[in-house]
Amino acid sequence: MFHWLRDHRRKEILQQPFPAEWKEILAEMVIHYSFLNGEEKNHLEQMVQVFTVEKNYEGCNGQEITDEIKVVIAAEACMLILGFPHDLYAGLLSLLIYPSTVVVPPPKMGVFTQSPLIEQSETAIYGQAFQRGPVILVWDEVTRGARHPESGHNVVYHEFAHLLDMESGAANGTPRLHSRDQYKIWAKVFTEEFLRLRRRSERGEKTFLDPYGALNEAEFFAVATEYFFDRPIRMEKKRKALYDVLSGFYRQDTAQRQRQYNTK
Ligand SMILES: [Zn+2]
Repeated sequence: MFHWLRDHRRKEILQQPFPAEWKEILAEMVIHYSFLNGEEKNHLEQMVQVFTVEKNYEGCNGQEITDEIKVVIAAEACMLILGFPHDLYAGLLSLLIYPSTVVVPPPKMGVFTQSPLIEQSETAIYGQAFQRGPVILVWDEVTRGARHPESGHNVVYHEFAHLLDMESGAANGTPRLHSRDQYKIWAKVFTEEFLRLRRRSERGEKTFLDPYGALNEAEFFAVATEYFFDRPIRMEKKRKALYDVLSGFYRQDTAQRQRQYNTK
C-alpha cells in the first residue's frame, strides 16, 4: 500500500521534533488544527514538517518568508489530505507569496479593438494555482481566511482543492475519487448543486455557496471545499447531499469534529 513515509529523506526530516513555536503558531492561527484529536494533530504536524522542507517558498513584492507563513500554509494545504493517503502535492515545487492583493493589469488593446462595451477593469486576485506550476497566495488574504472561518472563505483550501482537482488530469471539478461508486454519486450531486447555484446566481437570488462557484465546475469544487472545512455544520444541515459527497472524498467528518470541539 502507498505510504507517504516510505521515502528515506522524509523519515530523516521527522527525526527532528516538531518545534514548540510551530505548535503555538498552529494553535493561534489555524482554528481547524484545534478541532483535531491527538492522533490527527500528530499526522498533520508530520506533514507540515515535510511540506515546509520539500516546497520552495518565494516571497514576492518584498514579502519576507517567516515560519508563520510556512507553517500556516502547509497546515491548511495538508488539512485537505489528512484523511487519505496522498503524496503531499508531489507535483508542486514552489509557492509564491505576495504581501497583499495582486493586481493583474487589463489586457492591452489596440486602437481598433477598443470598444466601450468591453469592461476594462483590473482583476484583483488572492491566489492562483497552476497545473505543474506554482501556487500563488496573498498573505493578508491567507490570514483573513485562517482567522475568520465563519466567512466560509479560505484561499489556501481553495487553491489546494484546485491542485487535487488537477491531479485527475484536468481541472474539471472532479478530483481522483476513491471508488467507482463515488464517481456515480459525485456526478449526480455535483451536477445538481452546480446547476442550482448557477441558476440562482443568474437570477440574482440568494445562494448558499459563493456565486463565484457558478463560474465553472472547477470553481464550484474549490468553493464547496472552502465551505466544507469552514462551515461544515451549516453545510451538513442545508446541503446534506453535497456535504456527504465531500465528506466521502476527504474522508473527514468536519461537522462532527466541530461539534465535538464546540462541546469541549
Ligand atoms: Zn479558483
